Amino acid sequence: MRPNYIGGEWVEAARATPNVNPSDLADTIDHYASADAAAARRAVAAARAALPAWSATTPQQRFDALDAVGTEILARKAELGDLLSREEGKTLAEGVGEAARAGFIFKFFAGEALRAAGEVVPSVRPGLSVEVTREPVGVVGMIVPWNFPIAIPAWKIAPALAHGNCVVFKPAELAPACSWALAEILSRAGLPPGTFNLVMGKGSEVGQAILDDPGVDAVSFTGSVATGRRVAEAAMRRLAKVQLEMGGKNPLVVLDDADLAQAVEVAVQGSFYSTGQRCTASSRIVVTAGIHDAFVERLAERTRALAVGDARDPATQVGPVVDASQLEQDERYIALGRSEGARLVAGGERLKRAKEGFYLAPALFADCDNRMRICREEIFGPVAAVVRVKDYDEALAVANDTDFGLTAGICTTSLRHAAHFKRHAQAGMVMVNVPTAGVDYHVPFGGRRGSSYGPREQGRHAVEFYTTVKTAYTLA
Ligand code: NAD
Repeated sequence: MRPNYIGGEWVEAARATPNVNPSDLADTIDHYASADAAAARRAVAAARAALPAWSATTPQQRFDALDAVGTEILARKAELGDLLSREEGKTLAEGVGEAARAGFIFKFFAGEALRAAGEVVPSVRPGLSVEVTREPVGVVGMIVPWNFPIAIPAWKIAPALAHGNCVVFKPAELAPACSWALAEILSRAGLPPGTFNLVMGKGSEVGQAILDDPGVDAVSFTGSVATGRRVAEAAMRRLAKVQLEMGGKNPLVVLDDADLAQAVEVAVQGSFYSTGQRCTASSRIVVTAGIHDAFVERLAERTRALAVGDARDPATQVGPVVDASQLEQDERYIALGRSEGARLVAGGERLKRAKEGFYLAPALFADCDNRMRICREEIFGPVAAVVRVKDYDEALAVANDTDFGLTAGICTTSLRHAAHFKRHAQAGMVMVNVPTAGVDYHVPFGGRRGSSYGPREQGRHAVEFYTTVKTAYTLA
């Protein structure tokens, strides 16, 4: 059993959960400890005990620890990327890319520890000076999903530690291996015991215990809207700081003046890479009438030609769906799309491969109406819906007609439309001629409405969540 890491010690649990490779159900990666609520509370107590010392460390000490973690992740990116593909099902190239991204994130936030700054402000009253500084928020609980099992932990843990906080981290039950590997690296980075704690287990038990513990000052959550609401309610009840990153129903607008080949590529990557299991996936493709038929025909062809297979086979372009219940959800939505009157122009069927796995042919629907449930609800699989519109104004209106607001993309050669869309798309991130999924690690990430709540993650903006501001007045 791979144990939890609490108070600087590796701690086994009474129960363990197998971690199964979705590309090959006969391959069990390992068994991971499944903690109970008491273990989560011990982890919070350990983090509280560690807080006075860690929050008093120098920026140099924090830089050294985070930089060492980043260096090791980058040196081991091939191995960690392979583990990621094996447990989550994204392709090897995507797995290695995500591992490298985690390494760069630790490097970036190592630097942020050194760049901490405050302000000295003249007072409006005579003889006084005013200082505005930032302090750690305290013990941060982190609850994450399975679909970016090393990058999301990195973009929460690294800024938390850089700004002097202690961490209680709960990975998703479906993908604990990368989190465990990251915890193992952190355990050798020179952090005082209790500064970083890993508690693997069920959301309803370990997650809930973290949310309800008065020793947790702030909660950073990434996952579905339904769970996010529960997390927010629990945090609000005791006035803990909370940040939520949730789902998406991201539009990709394709205009008549788009470069057709480029637009098709942008759609294929945004909709189906990582098996469509990305909060930033382009699940609604909004296409103007003049290019619509040619675009749908080319996109259907490309979709049918995608190589679906074992995530770790270098020839694979789309890996398996993560597990049986996600596969059933994808299939339910494909059946729903048909019953709503959408036209399935590619894919949608289960595929058999040499090894038993959760293989699904990426599904493309045309003739969709934006009011259909397949256009409104997050499916979180390789399923995309094309909506035909007459012109740019209608495209923008349809793009913005959603309960979500994470990313929005446009393919166009018109500077005027690109500029207008960047200004008027109601989303946290806007992409012009690039896929809706795929972002830089040094700039803010997040959305609006049902997609996000609270301060942005990543880049310099992460300081907002991981610190609290103090204003000090001195009469000289
Ligand atoms: P999920 O909501 O089912 O689970 C997320 C985490 O919450 C898991 O660790 C789970 O154990 C935990 N959890 C479940 N119930 C809980 C409870 N009662 N109390 C505390 N914790 C609890 O989501 P998932 O299926 O793992 O991930 C998919 C979702 O994540 C999608 O909606 C996707 O869009 C979203 N996501 C969002 C972003 C983003 O940054 N916006 C990034 C990746 C994924």
